[in-house]
Amino acid sequence: MERETIYEGLVRKGVSRRDFLKFCASTAAVLGLSSSFVPKIAEAMEKKQKPVVVWLEYQDCAGCSESILRASKPTIGQIVLDVVSLEYHETIMAAAGHQAEKSLHDAIKNYKGKYLVVVEGAIPLKDGGVYCTIGGKSAVDLIKEICKDAMAVIAVGNCACFGGVPAAKPNPTGAVGVMDIIKDKPVINLPGCPLNVENFTATVVYFLTFGKLPAVDKLKRPLFAYGKLIHDNCERRGHFDASEYVKAWGDKGHRQGWCLFQMGCKGPFTNHNCPTIRWNEGVSWPVMAGHPCIGCSEPKFWDNNLYAEAEKNSFYAKAVGLAAMAGIANKVKTE
Ligand code: SF4
Ligand code: SF4
Repeated sequence: MERETIYEGLVRKGVSRRDFLKFCASTAAVLGLSSSFVPKIAEAMEKKQKPVVVWLEYQDCAGCSESILRASKPTIGQIVLDVVSLEYHETIMAAAGHQAEKSLHDAIKNYKGKYLVVVEGAIPLKDGGVYCTIGGKSAVDLIKEICKDAMAVIAVGNCACFGGVPAAKPNPTGAVGVMDIIKDKPVINLPGCPLNVENFTATVVYFLTFGKLPAVDKLKRPLFAYGKLIHDNCERRGHFDASEYVKAWGDKGHRQGWCLFQMGCKGPFTNHNCPTIRWNEGVSWPVMAGHPCIGCSEPKFWDNNLYAEAEKNSFYAKAVGLAAMAGIANKVKTE
């Protein structure tokens, strides 16, 4: 059966031509393409059928699925879900048990060589992979079986790319990312904790428009999203250059938007496009909101002294401290 094109799906959902073209233009901007590519993207969205996607979820918190589902403006939410034909997604599909297994097997049989696999979560290898099993099969066996006939594999979130939090020391389950297992297929990494949905959509649109995955760095991350350091585009950079640093939460520098480097900001060592595309549909991003970058798009971010500098003064530490003090005060009052 012919699947509808992305554009047909959008029209069916009531998305106007004007909003469709705005989507093509904003996706071109995320991809770092000039406006001359907008007609080419629009043409691909009008003519190409939606790619079939099988979404696998292993050792994770489901934060990347949340990131995709929580797109707040309805038109963008529709667009994200309409860019792909999601044939299997354990967390959000209605089917369960044998019915869900059948959807998976039908998808990989009916679309052999033509489907994309999206992987969310790390894959444990220790003790034969017993620490993550679905339907009696280990995640490592499943991923090999499902990726065998895929066109390409997209790893979303730090866990699927580099092992993420499950792989943090002492990595009790021997968790690894997809690229450590799948060696014979194109694999692209979209790390972050969670993935930024704009980068996922842009990757799929690029794939549909140009028939290949975008250019990547040595960690298999697309250059359009991970080609520059956070630090290079940060709006607090002028304060870094002028040695104006926040030294304590809520101090004068913090209130005036100074640099967060001395509070543990990993922006100078982290490649991601957060300052330019931001989060929550461009509303803000962590450094803009006054929190240091924690380097969530880099390997081993959880082990790399993540909160070392910031921890002593952190909002969370203070909140915990205040809560503890309140607890003591209440105890004293009631005694
Ligand atoms: S806040 Fe972080 S990313 Fe921004 S200028 Fe300072 S160190 Fe660089
Ligand atoms: S600012 Fe840093 S920690 Fe925050 S989402 Fe971007 S890369 Fe991750």
